[in-house]
This record gives sequence, C-alpha cells and structure tokens, in this order.
Amino acid sequence: MSTTGQNDRCIICLQYHTETTIEHIVPHSLGNDHYILQKGLVCRNCNNRFAKYEHQVVSSAPFLAIRRKYGVAPIAEVVPTILTQKNLGFFLAKILYESIYRSKRSLLDRYDLEPIRETLAGKKDITKVTMVLYQGKIERSIHIPNIIHRWRLRSIGIQLKYKEQDGGLIFSFIYERISFVLEIKKAAL
Ligand SMILES: [Zn+2]
Repeated sequence: MSTTGQNDRCIICLQYHTETTIEHIVPHSLGNDHYILQKGLVCRNCNNRFAKYEHQVVSSAPFLAIRRKYGVAPIAEVVPTILTQKNLGFFLAKILYESIYRSKRSLLDRYDLEPIRETLAGKKDITKVTMVLYQGKIERSIHIPNIIHRWRLRSIGIQLKYKEQDGGLIFSFIYERISFVLEIKKAAL
C-alpha cells in the first residue's frame, strides 16, 4: 500500500515520483521567481517537456524585446526563434492549467480541463483539444493570481486573467503590449 501523499503524484502526468523539482508557473526566464507550484507537484519529466517549448516561445523576437526591457534576456546576442501556434498553444495552456491549479482551484471543478492536462502530459495532440488561440484582449476579465503574486507578476510585465462566457473559459496572457487569448470551448455533450 502506498503511503505517498498528494505531493508525490505529478498533477500533469499523474505518475508517482520522488523528485522535488520546482515548477515555475510563468517561466523563470521571464523573471518570475515567486509564482511557482509547491515542490514535487510536477515531475521532472513534465518539467523538462515544458522547458522545450517555453524556450521556443520566450526566445522569439516579440518576447526577447520585452525581456530585454526587464533585464532578463540573455546577454549574448541570440538568433530569435519562430513563434509557432503550436508552441504558443502549449505555452499558454500550461500557464492556464497551473495558474488555475495554484490560484483558482474551483475552476478546475467547473470546467473539463482534462484534455488540456492530457495534452500537457504529451498524451494528446494539442490540435485535438477544443481551444482557440488568438491575439487580442478581453473585456471585464478577472485576475487569476492573488494580490501578492499579481503585483509581483505585474512588475515583470505579466498579467494572467480569465473570463467565463457562454459556458466556456477564456484565458488571457498579457505581456506588456502582447496579449494572447486562449478560449476553451464548452465540451460537446
Ligand atoms: Zn509529470
């Protein structure tokens, strides 16, 4: 019989593990030191999987420009990566899932985010998930992190917001002048 607690099971792939990897909800490379998940909630395998596409996104030209402003870009000149829909979709889906897990847990009970979790676990193709990604802003949205984390993220140019509309969940990631929206459609009955 297992005596392992909740912290030994990865919230993404659901595998038991004994690692104490720190998972940054917003990538560390954007200057985030504080908005993290409790040690052990995400296993090293998942953490490594996320790192690959996070790197692709934060090393793209629009992200690099803003990171330079906040002094968190690499000092050496780097060739910007191409910001692809797929990597960006993963990037946003991960921040959506983890920020909700951390700060707005009740939304996890109200929405079927299993397809998102399975996608993040590498078990489902992201193109099969019922979500829409676009650039833009949403009106009357609500902050996800609590006031302390909200303030700290704001100091590195980031805001995470959500809105419930037509039975679906709308998530927005704002990075200074860049603003992306990820819309999770209501699951078909
Ligand atoms: Zn995992």
